[in-house]
Amino acid sequence: MRPRIAVPHSSLTGQLATQLAAMLVAVTLLVAGLLAPTTAHAGTDVAPGGAATPTSVPAPASAPAAAPTARSVLLISVDGLSPAVVAQLGRKRTPALHRLMAQGTSTRNARTEVELTKTLPNHTSMVTGRRITAEQGGHGVWWNDDRRSPATVHKAAGHRVASVFTRVDGAGGSSAVFAGKTKFRLWNRTWGRSIDRFQVRADDARLARDVRRDLRRKNRTLRFWHIAAPDRTGHAKGFSSRAYRRAVRSTDALVGEVLRTIRTSPRLRGKVAVVLTSDHGADGGRRHSDETKLGNQQILFVAQGPGIATGADLYAINPGTVAGPGRRQPAYDADLPPVRNGDAANFVLDLLGLAPVPGSELNADQHLKWVRPAS
Ligand SMILES: [Zn+2]
Repeated sequence: MRPRIAVPHSSLTGQLATQLAAMLVAVTLLVAGLLAPTTAHAGTDVAPGGAATPTSVPAPASAPAAAPTARSVLLISVDGLSPAVVAQLGRKRTPALHRLMAQGTSTRNARTEVELTKTLPNHTSMVTGRRITAEQGGHGVWWNDDRRSPATVHKAAGHRVASVFTRVDGAGGSSAVFAGKTKFRLWNRTWGRSIDRFQVRADDARLARDVRRDLRRKNRTLRFWHIAAPDRTGHAKGFSSRAYRRAVRSTDALVGEVLRTIRTSPRLRGKVAVVLTSDHGADGGRRHSDETKLGNQQILFVAQGPGIATGADLYAINPGTVAGPGRRQPAYDADLPPVRNGDAANFVLDLLGLAPVPGSELNADQHLKWVRPAS
């Protein structure tokens, strides 16, 4: 890890300058392992340099009246999860997803990116906060297979592209990726130096076990967990099939086990925020590539954990910055955009008290909040 102090994204007020100076001292002490990390405002980053101690993002020294920041975030993406099918299955057959929504802040009417409803493009938006089309500032990853050229997201975009992983790394944090498809290796080629663990496994149950073990054993700022089962089954048997619904139920069970690991560990309970969304939905049939179909565009977006409002609707607690899209897919420049999976990047960083991904567009002002507005 490269020692580095980033300038806060907010304007450098006198107070912050003082804090920044204090932090120079703190960095020195941190490296010596003498001081528990304390930092100032979100976006003030301290890298502990060569410190061997496990890292997590420090909580703000003086938290505002609002919610405390999470010590760690688990970002889960369920590939090809249909919110409508989750609703059909109900609380009894998808208890973990329903509990997550009941205990957190959520919407069943979030959206994919506009250009495509495909796995690799949408996931890359999820971790960069960018739209897809490179010519319009997007990350440029429009393909959805294992091709090795372009070799990196930087090559696809035509310039360096920052991500949640580079942001967390720059703040001295640790991150891990657990993915159920080999095409995600693109991320390791792109941001591998910032990702502390990169695990690809086709077996969803074993991958979930890896996630649970990692949660128990490692201190990480951010984990990304991709669950492939619903999508894989949808392509094989159809997204309206019984097999697909079974895959959603087994996914729910895996999510439930991981949530239980968090809930039952004194080290993790109350410190890990969980954000769950999807790369795309499912409109039926065996494909989801028609980006004009509502079913493919429509996804869940759920956040649950320390400081996050319980039983709240994301649109209801964010009036004036986002609006439910009904049955439409609003354009990127809509006055009131929907919640998108691409908002996750900067949402997750905000939960951790970190500034947005440099160069990002979606939720770039971190408008998406997780607490009820003061009345
Ligand atoms: Zn698919």
